[in-house]
Amino acid sequence: MENKCIYCGRMDNLSESDIIPDALTNARILNRNVCRIEHNNKFSDMFESKVIDALSFITNELDIKSSKGKNYAPYEAVVTIEGIDYNIRLHGDKEIFNGRVLKSTDNTQMISSYDRAVKIAKDERKVQPLDINTIEIEKKVRINNEIFFDISMFRMLSKIAFEWYCAKNSISGYYSEFSNIVEFITTGNGTNPVSIIQEEELYKMVDHLGNLGSHTLFAFEKEDGEIDVIISLFGLLMYRVIVTKEKPNICVNNFLYTELRTDSSRREIIHQSVEEAQQKLNGMFAQDNFVSAGVINGVHIMIPKMMTPLQNVEIYPLWFNLTQYLSKVNDDATEPNERVNNIFLNQLKNLTQASTLQKKSIKRFVNDTFYKGHEKIRLNPNSSNKKSTVLFYVIYLIGISEDEELSDAVLQKIIKKGLPNQYSEEFLVDDEMENNLKKIIMEDENYSDILEKGAKKVINWQN
Ligand SMILES: [Zn+2]
Repeated sequence: MENKCIYCGRMDNLSESDIIPDALTNARILNRNVCRIEHNNKFSDMFESKVIDALSFITNELDIKSSKGKNYAPYEAVVTIEGIDYNIRLHGDKEIFNGRVLKSTDNTQMISSYDRAVKIAKDERKVQPLDINTIEIEKKVRINNEIFFDISMFRMLSKIAFEWYCAKNSISGYYSEFSNIVEFITTGNGTNPVSIIQEEELYKMVDHLGNLGSHTLFAFEKEDGEIDVIISLFGLLMYRVIVTKEKPNICVNNFLYTELRTDSSRREIIHQSVEEAQQKLNGMFAQDNFVSAGVINGVHIMIPKMMTPLQNVEIYPLWFNLTQYLSKVNDDATEPNERVNNIFLNQLKNLTQASTLQKKSIKRFVNDTFYKGHEKIRLNPNSSNKKSTVLFYVIYLIGISEDEELSDAVLQKIIKKGLPNQYSEEFLVDDEMENNLKKIIMEDENYSDILEKGAKKVINWQN
């Protein structure tokens, strides 16, 4: 069968569309039946870049960047230094003083290197020294949560749901059953197919299904034939997208699951229907799936039939529950309200307080912090930055460890041994934990040297 664009049906100049914009995920998923200009490139200006810009703080927190770009997306922050506000564009955490001139928001103060400050002030008496290791620094980031209720977000989510569902059903060409969602994606007109899920319980369930910061997508068919796709965006908010009220007959896969993780790994499950998924699951435990393997000492030995084992079997019970609830109940919000805001703030807090300790984030941190010619590291007891404290602590653990060469397994061993209490894949850091970790490091007289040693091991860690 020839490939045709799912938006317009044209056959020439098709391209690979990133179903989720490349700048928002480290785990790319593609739809190859999308024409290059009209229904791929143009979407970027129409709605995707607005969403990407507004979410740059979150992609920075999660160490997600576009595979095309060299840098992480910059974001605006207000940094308060000794009580004075400075508006700064940041990429990472450690580059606040990285050679630039900072101007206070009210334009009365400046911070830069001493020599440069004297040059600018033309009078040495106007320049005061600052010890960046002891001054109080507070970073505030204004998260524009309006973007989560913006039409560009709704169009992007519709695009994700539509292209993902089509990819899983190998759809080629335009089908009028999708006319509403296609109109909304391409023009912003028509009925908005997106709503926001506002049941806190459902968020907890999705948190249990996947990793921190993942995008989780699942699709199901309602009793009346409507196809809904649920998208959990970074785990921050969950949206329902009505892909079609009546699906084309060729769409056979209607019970779908994909989790895209920040470490670029993924989980994908495809079933035709929830019934088929249930049968497969039940089949795994059914009696008649055992066959005789012979008789030993008069006892019939029964072993399971060789059948394809069901992958990711542990997520099925929760997945069934979620789907069942969401296909029966629709209590969604269409615009922001207090309930949704509270959920969002809570999820955001968990996201920013947790550290995903993976190679990528550790390497990035070392490159940003222990760059060539950097000054000796001295921790500032008066500034709070939970993520960087945890990363310093991990570098410290690597520094004191006897292992000279790092690997994923060695790192996990070092972390497991060194992190207080329960360490799973994520590690939640509140104020108390942050102070504890800092205290442990700073009580070590040689901690600056040990950090250098740890950083060197990370730099030498081969890809
Ligand atoms: Zn097209």
